[in-house]
Amino acid sequence: MEITEFPERVLKEAGGAVEKFDAELERLVADMFETMYAAEGVGLAAPQVGLSLRLFVMDCEGVKLVAANPEILSAEGEQGGEEGCLSVGKIHAPLKRAARVRLRAQDVRGEWFEREAEGLAARCFLHETDHCDGLLFLDRLSPLRRDMVKKRFQKVKRWR
Ligand SMILES: [Zn+2]
Repeated sequence: MEITEFPERVLKEAGGAVEKFDAELERLVADMFETMYAAEGVGLAAPQVGLSLRLFVMDCEGVKLVAANPEILSAEGEQGGEEGCLSVGKIHAPLKRAARVRLRAQDVRGEWFEREAEGLAARCFLHETDHCDGLLFLDRLSPLRRDMVKKRFQKVKRWR
């Protein structure tokens, strides 16, 4: 699948709920994993492949899962560190996030589950759930940092 990039409209839209847990969803999830691994990413949300849906896949520090209709149940503590996004040319910027995050979502068969994570996997829960809400990590940066990342991304795009 092709990865949609900033500033495409679909990345700014809150996704619709996943309602059908069928073979089509299984194929979509398999394609999303393949696309994520090919791009050497640790998470990928449906809007990043042009679909306005509340759905993401991730494989980050031993946390491999499919999350449909994700919700953040709790977010505690604070972690520093850098964050980047496949839709913004993997340009990284420092962004503070919660250190421990509890996620609730449905798996590919529609079963609800809860999962807690720390560190990078917790950051991934937040980043990918943001995508489902039409938010990019850019939206959480200070205006100065946001402009820096946007400028660097525009340069990267021109070189390709
Ligand atoms: Zn992203």
